Amino acid sequence: MRLIFMGPPGAGKGTQAARLLSAFGVCHISTGDMFRAAVKAGTPLGLQAQRHMSAGELVPDAVTIGLVRERLKQPDAQRGFLLDGFPRTVPQAEALAAALEADGVALDGVLVLEVPDAYIVERIVGRRTDPETGTIYHVRFDPPPAAIAARVVQRKDDAEEVVRERLAAYHAQTAPIVPIYEARGLVRRVDGLGTPDEVTARIQAVLA
Ligand code: AMP
Repeated sequence: MRLIFMGPPGAGKGTQAARLLSAFGVCHISTGDMFRAAVKAGTPLGLQAQRHMSAGELVPDAVTIGLVRERLKQPDAQRGFLLDGFPRTVPQAEALAAALEADGVALDGVLVLEVPDAYIVERIVGRRTDPETGTIYHVRFDPPPAAIAARVVQRKDDAEEVVRERLAAYHAQTAPIVPIYEARGLVRRVDGLGTPDEVTARIQAVLA
């Protein structure tokens, strides 16, 4: 299965992708996670990405497209993938289409997790991640267990002023991709409001 997960920052893409992976046995390709790993490792890619990420801007297309092209060539991506946070611009969507065509494979669907802007800031500002497992929590809606509460961290780009920039980037640069996939009959919209379990059930119903 080859799927794209779309939706504004904080829609629940990362949480839902992690829940679906075991069910479908495909690899999770999150460009945000790849950039964060590069930042942590202090590589030249990480240094370049960090400047854009901390401002809430997108990393330039040439960098992002090169990274994903390489990732899609890895053996684990041949069985299928769940793309989370890519493509985020029209040129990225075009580059993905060209890469898949060259491999003779096609996308099965584009899942758009819908969450109105009014909910996004509260969702993101309360988001915390367990650095040891990568599990995502929310201080109010899904608090981390007491045993790990002291070690969870907040992403730097989850500060409120950065979130507003990221949301603006989503509407300006990423939302215009949806009609492109819609014209190909690939889009399924899923209501991203409610508990993580409720959203997972909706996604499973759509995928079934
Ligand atoms: P995410 O974890 O998906 O919210 O991504 C965090 C940040 O990484 C974004 O705000 C961007 O700065 C950068 N990023 C992730 N994916 C992409 C992409 N496909 N294109 C450009 N920048 C990206």
